Amino acid sequence: MQHINIPPENHIKVLGDQGWIGMIDHLGNETTLVNAARVSFGKMKDDMDDKDVQLLDYLIKNRHTSPLEHMVFTFSIHCPLFVRGQWHRHRTWSYNEISRRYTEVDMEFYTPPKIRAQAKSDRQASVDIDMDDTALRAKISDHNQGSLKLYNELLDDGVCREQARGVLPQNMMVTFWATVDLSNLIHFLDLRDSEHAQWEIREYAIAIKQLLKPIVPNVFNTLKSMQK
Ligand SMILES: Cc1cc2nc3c(=O)[nH]c(=O)nc-3n(C[C@H](O)[C@H](O)[C@H](O)COP(=O)(O)OP(=O)(O)OC[C@H]3O[C@@H](n4cnc5c(N)ncnc54)[C@H](O)[C@@H]3O)c2cc1C
Repeated sequence: MQHINIPPENHIKVLGDQGWIGMIDHLGNETTLVNAARVSFGKMKDDMDDKDVQLLDYLIKNRHTSPLEHMVFTFSIHCPLFVRGQWHRHRTWSYNEISRRYTEVDMEFYTPPKIRAQAKSDRQASVDIDMDDTALRAKISDHNQGSLKLYNELLDDGVCREQARGVLPQNMMVTFWATVDLSNLIHFLDLRDSEHAQWEIREYAIAIKQLLKPIVPNVFNTLKSMQK
């Protein structure tokens, strides 16, 4: 049996190689989408032609969403806890996650590859800074390791895993599976591959588009043309 922390072959590394996302499976293809759009005419085709490509582009750009719900994707995601928190706000996805109540092995912690400063104009935003951030990154890494040490000490003292995990930081890496249809995936990408989204979750949204490229190349092209 394979451990869930082992990334799928097609995975893409993100966050300075500390996180990754891969596609586990998908249901349907671009022909499924245009056939779903034409169900009302009682027509079905086996292959895509130029008109189908135009139709698909039209469906996406005009938010004609229901045909897009006939294609479904499952991803495996390795990310910090705070990214998982943002991701799980998307209620139209289905999730399953590795549990710290069952496992204590392979604990990893995220240290930002580059420190950003708080934006002055927007409380939700950050800005790049040109400075040596080695000492700040070391502080974060030390805190991560200190939390892990305390967690292990609590376990050694006989504290149960479900309580001890409370001392683990937001930087703890978690692995989860997430399944979504194409319509809601496009909505996610619209919100999270955006300059308004936090850099960390945006890295995953950008990687998802790369994972989509070989499977739904025309959808990929439409999304690229719509990128704000
Ligand atoms: C840049 C950014 C900043 C954010 N900041 C904050 C923040 O400060 N605080 C905070 O709490 N959240 C924040 N969020 C989260 C945000 O409010 C949404 O919860 C998150 O983006 C999920 O969006 P969604 O509800 O559209 O997606 P999904 O949950 O996937 O839903 C998709 C669509 O389905 C429909 N839908 C789903 N569930 C319901 C329902 N119960 N009733 C009616 N319609 C439904 C809606 O049309 C919805 O748009 C932020 C998100 C972004 C992108």
